Amino acid sequence: PVSFHDDAPGEVGIMPEADCIFCKIVKGDIPCARIYETEHVLAFLDVAPVAPGHTLVIPKAHYANLFDLPEEEGRRLFAALAPVGRAIMAATGASGINVQMNNYESAGQVVFHAHLHLIPRRAGDGLAL
Ligand code: 5GP
Repeated sequence: PVSFHDDAPGEVGIMPEADCIFCKIVKGDIPCARIYETEHVLAFLDVAPVAPGHTLVIPKAHYANLFDLPEEEGRRLFAALAPVGRAIMAATGASGINVQMNNYESAGQVVFHAHLHLIPRRAGDGLAL
């Protein structure tokens, strides 16, 4: 891990992991379609959506997965789900939404920076999640 602290006084430092793609997205080094942001949480569109509006909600600080995530960070992520999910459903016209989290490789985790998938659903869309 590489420590990073913003020089601006009063700013809360974050600790990006070297080569973590989501830490680069948080820093703005890799572009993304940001749809919601707080001091601690970022939501952006998945680059390979399984449905239109497929969104990822992440802590800005680097944690590998659910089991690495401090309770307070978990609360902040969870608090973002309803407002972000509501906006996604309104924007896409979806009638339902799945929240999914993959933890460790055998469960399908590919990016090892904790994230929740918000996947808009429609009746009969045929998605198998
Ligand atoms: P996982 O399988 O780890 O739960 O999901 C990782 C997700 O991140 C995948 O759905 C993948 O499409 C998405 N993803 C990977 N790289 C990028 C990227 O550079 N930008 C965005 N917006 N999404 C990404």
